[in-house]
Amino acid sequence: MMETVMLVGSILAALLFFWLWKRTRSVWLAYAHLSMLTFTGFVLSLQSFCTWSGNALGMCTWVVSKVLGYGVPIAVALTFVFGWIVMPFLYKQRFADLGFTHKLLRLVPGARLWIVDTAKPYAFALKKDVFITVGMFDILTKKEQEAVLLHELGHVRQKTSLRKFTAAVMRLVSPVSAFYTHKVLNAEERDADAFAASIQGTTRYVLSARAKLNKA
Ligand SMILES: [Zn+2]
Repeated sequence: MMETVMLVGSILAALLFFWLWKRTRSVWLAYAHLSMLTFTGFVLSLQSFCTWSGNALGMCTWVVSKVLGYGVPIAVALTFVFGWIVMPFLYKQRFADLGFTHKLLRLVPGARLWIVDTAKPYAFALKKDVFITVGMFDILTKKEQEAVLLHELGHVRQKTSLRKFTAAVMRLVSPVSAFYTHKVLNAEERDADAFAASIQGTTRYVLSARAKLNKA
């Protein structure tokens, strides 16, 4: 009886946190959702699987608590270490000083620009660092380069990399969020474009840069 109440309670809490996350895209709500989900899985496994298997020598309880209690947090921690610490380190090759970038970078305190030595044109933001490839500068006009930098600065400002990372974890771990994460990511792109357009006073360069990149 007690376990059933806990089970229903944790499922409802998981759904509530998910719904709130959908509305606010606030990162801590995503993790609250995941904790509740892990807890639900924990109770459910103990209740159904361990009872059914007879739980010889308490092995089942032991395995379930180790897998969910350590496995899930360790998997999340490893993803975090790689995505958050190792990845940026690999890309920080060349500090950029391109004249026109200075005043734009000042719009977002702490933001830095790095040039990646690759012909393939792409750009991304990780935490407060913006990475733009040499190939990007080759194919875009000055105004379009500005638009791309501003778009990425928009991501820094709205903390997209943290939200993206969270959305990726959600997609891995949470079954209810599987169909939703792309919407979160699309919203991040729209907001970043809107930031660039608001500074430039037009959507023209954001759009033409995107058109060129889609063709490249
Ligand atoms: Zn973007």
